[in-house]
Amino acid sequence: MSSLDTFAAQKLASLEAKNLRRTLVDTARENSIWLVRGGRRLLSFSCNDYLNFTQDPRVQEAAIAAIRTHGVGAGASRLVTGNHPLFAALETKLAKLKDTEAACIFGSGYLANLGIISALMGRNDLVLVDELSHSCILAGAALSGGKMLTFRHNDVAHAAELLKAHRASHRHAMIATDGVFSMDGDLAPLQELGALAREYDAWLLSDDAHGIGVVGGGRGSSFARARKADVPLQMGTLSKAVGSYGGYLCASQPVIDLVKTRARTFVYSTGLPPASVAAAMAAVDLIDRDPNHAIKPLRKAKTFTARLGLPEAQSPIVPIIIGETEEALNASRMLEDEGFLVAAIRSPTVTPGTSRLRVTFTAAHPDSEIERLASIIGERILRR
Ligand SMILES: *Cc1c(COP(=O)(O)O)cnc(C)c1O
Repeated sequence: MSSLDTFAAQKLASLEAKNLRRTLVDTARENSIWLVRGGRRLLSFSCNDYLNFTQDPRVQEAAIAAIRTHGVGAGASRLVTGNHPLFAALETKLAKLKDTEAACIFGSGYLANLGIISALMGRNDLVLVDELSHSCILAGAALSGGKMLTFRHNDVAHAAELLKAHRASHRHAMIATDGVFSMDGDLAPLQELGALAREYDAWLLSDDAHGIGVVGGGRGSSFARARKADVPLQMGTLSKAVGSYGGYLCASQPVIDLVKTRARTFVYSTGLPPASVAAAMAAVDLIDRDPNHAIKPLRKAKTFTARLGLPEAQSPIVPIIIGETEEALNASRMLEDEGFLVAAIRSPTVTPGTSRLRVTFTAAHPDSEIERLASIIGERILRR
């Protein structure tokens, strides 16, 4: 064996020994909540398709029409010839939804954070990151070459302490956090972080991958409280509640113009396929027009947490912390035997020792099935 293959095989074996090897399972999606795996039909509580738009005929038709008009792929980076007219239309809609001057679409949410953070921050700068932030925020901060420090989860006082100690010795500073935490489902204290950022002249970025479409009347986590939070960099994804694919940043015109000039994942990567952009546009229109639809996933999550006596859901994501990886995997298998797909989430996605079931709710989940899931989890997982 070559040293490369030996390395790969040994690394895999050591991950396997710790229950950390990951494998892909063929999963056919029958509609937005029912899946077929290994010949079995399962009700999924693991998709991020919160508003069921991946399978919505109005969204699908928009994508099909865009392929007929504009073709299948963009053909080049948007700065070369890939800038088909759908981009500007979607950017205008997103900016309106998020109440900003402008917006920029990226290839994915992951690519958005890599590009945004590394375009704005550099070697002499400070990037403060909530310790539970998504992997792509950490990757963007690392790519920027700035000094990255993590603050304890949602601990504004700790962030303030770090700024007090380190802000003065850096040119620019950024505070970056998930708006809705992807594995915990709680919200960031964006009002307080916004005030802190103003005090220290730091730039606040919130990653609203799990916020757009489902909290703040569909407008996202900056809008989750009565007063809008002051978040100059609102990024997110088009691949969760929006049901399509791609990432975005909503910000002021100068920031968007700079990002479109300097973000490497924007400049050197092909524009999104027209179908993805058109689908996202149709979905954003639907979110904008019907805030009552946007309320449904959170309402279902709250029914579930109330039923089990868990802390009230703040988003459609509800974690059930199990602890050991093996036990979380067993719990997930038991639920699969009952016809439910509820993914076990383990390290390194979450801190070791906090392996969990992550239950996500969509507008279309039948109340009777939520009740059946709650009763099984209550009897066989929580009360043991
Ligand atoms: C899913 C997710 C992303 C990545 O978005 P993609 O469009 O899937 O690349 C970024 N941030 C958070 C918090 C996420 O949950």
